[in-house]
Amino acid sequence: MAAVNKAQIMAAMECPVCYDILRPPIHPCNQGHPICGDCRQQMERLSQNVCCPLCRSGYSLPPSHILEAIYNSLRVSCKFNSGGCRHVCWGKDMKIHEQKCKFGPRTCPRRNVGCMWIGPLTMLAKHCIENHCPSVNLN
Ligand SMILES: [Zn+2]
Ligand SMILES: [Zn+2]
Ligand SMILES: [Zn+2]
Ligand SMILES: [Zn+2]
Repeated sequence: MAAVNKAQIMAAMECPVCYDILRPPIHPCNQGHPICGDCRQQMERLSQNVCCPLCRSGYSLPPSHILEAIYNSLRVSCKFNSGGCRHVCWGKDMKIHEQKCKFGPRTCPRRNVGCMWIGPLTMLAKHCIENHCPSVNLN
């Protein structure tokens, strides 16, 4: 294993859709190109016939346990890093963090009256002011 350096592992663990690290569940296409579970879900929301962006094969294989084991053994950053989270930990511990990460997606407090907004906690106050406080003039 010493012959494989970290940069090579990180390159092999890059998702071709989001260019972030592959995060479990990691789905290989029928030719073996992996994408992360979140990306597959997002693509499935848009199309019923999701195919691999690299080779256009379908996804009928189970998630890859080998790639998940590699992910678990790496130091990875939180998937909400684009929202501002700076948390880094071992892959195996990341799921626990991401479930309670304050930069993760939140629903609007007015969801019960029909607001379907979802976004990071850091954007929630702005959303509420702009959308649910009509008396506030922002300029
Ligand atoms: Zn991805
Ligand atoms: Zn493929
Ligand atoms: Zn986080
Ligand atoms: Zn709202």
